[in-house]
Amino acid sequence: MTADKLTDFQWKTKIQLFKPEEFMGSRIEGLPRSSMLPWLDERVIWAITRLRLLTGQRMTPSPAPGAIARTWKTKSQHYSIGRISTAVDLFILEGTLQTVYEAALKLPEIGGFGAYPEWKPHHGVHIDIRPRKGRLHTWMAENKEGEQIYSALNWERVEALTAPLHAHKTQS
Ligand SMILES: [Zn+2]
Repeated sequence: MTADKLTDFQWKTKIQLFKPEEFMGSRIEGLPRSSMLPWLDERVIWAITRLRLLTGQRMTPSPAPGAIARTWKTKSQHYSIGRISTAVDLFILEGTLQTVYEAALKLPEIGGFGAYPEWKPHHGVHIDIRPRKGRLHTWMAENKEGEQIYSALNWERVEALTAPLHAHKTQS
């Protein structure tokens, strides 16, 4: 079922921690922003609601094109032609990416986790609901000369990339 079928009652009483208006975006760069809920699997909403509850950390979908559903990269969990997106990219508005990861590990409905320590203005994660094959599928990405380079998830590296942000925050 697509997430636009969720009722006001479900949003207000069961989901609570996210609002439908947060799921605005575009499926490709250049298109006007609109609700991405018609292209998103509702199970993603339930999964991130549990993630939000378990972490206690505020998070919200990234407004970047393709952050919820996209029309390019056919192998992506966000791909939404002939299927619906099973993923969302989230800005993590407080706390660390590692605590989000630890919570994701505990939620069997989450099958994919990507760490994006350098996203601006907030560091972020990719969450998807692919079936787990024995373990959570993980990766990280960092910016090199304007490109996102993917590698195995390494918390020392994530920390190093996030550190300047923390250092800046503690100065005030
Ligand atoms: Zn993603």
